[in-house]
Amino acid sequence: MPDPLSALRDHLAPIEDLKTAAAVLAWDQETFMPDGGADARAHQLSTLQSMAHERFASDTTGELLDRAAETVDDPESLDTAASLVRVTRREYDRARRVPSSLVAELSGAISEAKRAWAQAREQDDFPAFAPHLERLIELTVEKAEAIGYEHEPYDALLTEYEPGLTTPDVASTFATLREDLVPLVDAIAEAPQIDDAPLHGSFPQEKQQAFGERVLSDLGYDFDRGRQDVCAHPFTTAFAPGDVRITTRYDESFLPSALFSTLHEGGHALYEQGIAPNLARTPLADGASLGVHESQSRLWENHVGRSRPFWRHYFPLLQEAFPDALGDTAPEAFYRAINRVAPSLIRVEADEVTYNLHVMLRFELERGLINGSLAVNDLPRRWNEAMDDTLGVVPDTDTNGVLQDVHWAQGAFGYFPTYTLGTLMAAQLMEAIRDDLPSLAPCMAEGAFAPLLDWLRTHVHQHGRKLTAPRLLKRTTGQDLSADAWLRYATTKFGALYDLS
Ligand code: ZN
Repeated sequence: MPDPLSALRDHLAPIEDLKTAAAVLAWDQETFMPDGGADARAHQLSTLQSMAHERFASDTTGELLDRAAETVDDPESLDTAASLVRVTRREYDRARRVPSSLVAELSGAISEAKRAWAQAREQDDFPAFAPHLERLIELTVEKAEAIGYEHEPYDALLTEYEPGLTTPDVASTFATLREDLVPLVDAIAEAPQIDDAPLHGSFPQEKQQAFGERVLSDLGYDFDRGRQDVCAHPFTTAFAPGDVRITTRYDESFLPSALFSTLHEGGHALYEQGIAPNLARTPLADGASLGVHESQSRLWENHVGRSRPFWRHYFPLLQEAFPDALGDTAPEAFYRAINRVAPSLIRVEADEVTYNLHVMLRFELERGLINGSLAVNDLPRRWNEAMDDTLGVVPDTDTNGVLQDVHWAQGAFGYFPTYTLGTLMAAQLMEAIRDDLPSLAPCMAEGAFAPLLDWLRTHVHQHGRKLTAPRLLKRTTGQDLSADAWLRYATTKFGALYDLS
């Protein structure tokens, strides 16, 4: 008979295989599948996912977990055995609390809501989507009640993506952020605007692709363990540490679209490629949380990819690739253009600064929807008021407003805050990195990223899901989650760019 820990691993491995197989199908669906495959693919995905769920939520998992737990001395230890028991137990308890009838009902409601959302978005018809959203909220609250929570039902949803954080943690961090962010955005709005003309022009796709792949390789992304394809909504997906794929999209008249989505997804992918191989085929082979995952993408996209040292190295190469569009552009003009801040309607197109206001707006509205203080019918009005209050722009249609994101139609309540949490964590990590690596900027200016990647591998990547975000931050920075580091970063960087006093 195998020892209890091996028995647990042997039981969990095929469950992870089922989930990975579903991920391969999902990747194919977004990249290469013809439209005609949609119905069959929905069945295939749902079969694999429910098989994985059934096996995982079974009594067997519980028994194996109990036996394995007896072999662990310190349940909080970071060694693989203790972490495997701890993280699997956390997910198992959660999976067991939600009745399978509710899981099935939710999954059906989500399929219908997604279809209704796509149509409503196309036709700018929020009322057509409203009953689906109401139904999803009802079922989601039921799920939250089944899971249990400390302060309010939203906690139970948040912890799926961000274990160890509660709604009040997020609310108070965001309140601190807002206090200094809103005046910063106001001050930028009153300053002379930066010209982003250098970013508009003619940028042939194959040249963009070659440049992007060159940068990814330099950063440390291993193309022998990954690949990049084209997709309308860029994402990263990992099937194993040896197979981590990214996608991007190209706009031949606007350079930043592919450039920064490549750096962003590259950051996610470097994380996945750095997870210790011995965690493969276990629930530990994933990012610590969505926020920590996003901290890696934001770190490479913004702290590296929108910095002067980075472009000191790459701007001459970029000019070489696009002599017609950029031949006469000064490096400083380019640096300023890629850091332009301007309030806009669409979250995914927002700049580094105003992006956080889009996220906080969604967090407040979805928290209201879940705790019952906001009715679905009032949502478009409240959305537009909040946009006006925080960003000073009001959408002309619901398509450009409340209907722009798919998350709610997917039942993913509690997901939005992780984008800004990741932004804040990235800035906290960067302060620790700068302390440890005083020569970081000169290294980047020479195109040398190994010291940075090694630091991240050691402190973040290799641990996979062993750590929660609060524990990871404490270990690496000595601090709790906080908006202060990002505010220091943003005030300094954008204060200089916009000449604010
Ligand atoms: Zn991301």
